[in-house]
Amino acid sequence: MVEIIAAIIAFIIGTFLGSFYTLAVYRIPIKQDITHERSYCPKCNHKLNFLDLVPVFSYIFLGGKCRYCKNKIRPRYLILEIISGFAFMFYILSLNLDLYNIQFGDIIKMFFGMIYISIFSITAGIDFENRKIEKSMMVFTAITSIIYMLYLYILGVNMYRYVIYFMIIICLLVIDKIKPSYTIDIITYMLLILLYMGTDATLGVIAITFIAIAIKSIINIIRKKEFKPAIGAIFSIVSVCILIVQNFITV
Ligand SMILES: [Zn+2]
Repeated sequence: MVEIIAAIIAFIIGTFLGSFYTLAVYRIPIKQDITHERSYCPKCNHKLNFLDLVPVFSYIFLGGKCRYCKNKIRPRYLILEIISGFAFMFYILSLNLDLYNIQFGDIIKMFFGMIYISIFSITAGIDFENRKIEKSMMVFTAITSIIYMLYLYILGVNMYRYVIYFMIIICLLVIDKIKPSYTIDIITYMLLILLYMGTDATLGVIAITFIAIAIKSIINIIRKKEFKPAIGAIFSIVSVCILIVQNFITV
């Protein structure tokens, strides 16, 4: 029973996170504040109140329309919130927490999981919309990685590999600063994720990402359609899946 309640709470938190991700994906590329300024309707600019912002429910109760201008809200937001809810619920379940005896280590692990899932989701959204790995997200990921490495250091993990990876990342960031390139951004992003996911999981993610892109490319060649893959987005989505599956297998 407690497990079911915990799963429902995780789902609800996930939908709120999903709602925040869609806002971040919209605002970060246009350099708008994501934490302080209240949400508004993109059609009529009316500020939204708390009830308008409750994920999933507000969409259903308002019939998919803005309360103020009655313009349709894209159902994509609803779908993303629901996906985010399920993803977060499965992530929490994958941790297999002993709810009567939660350890400090579990909370730290959950905290990093939440931060990285957020990084994956927002990076995926921005890359999907703009074919771009957002610089500010990269900096945020780098800072998170440093904190994560400090945590590993405290746990007594051998840091040798991590330091080398991080030096490569810094070199790539410098090169990218001089000559910005999507390819370098993708490689840097993958290395940053490697610091968290570990080598085996990351190689798995890269392999699945490229197989997915290859299949889609072949389909598009047959259909004679142009195709510019959002590599960062596919990589991020596969990462979340692998992260959850890996937890289910190893716990
Ligand atoms: Zn409106």
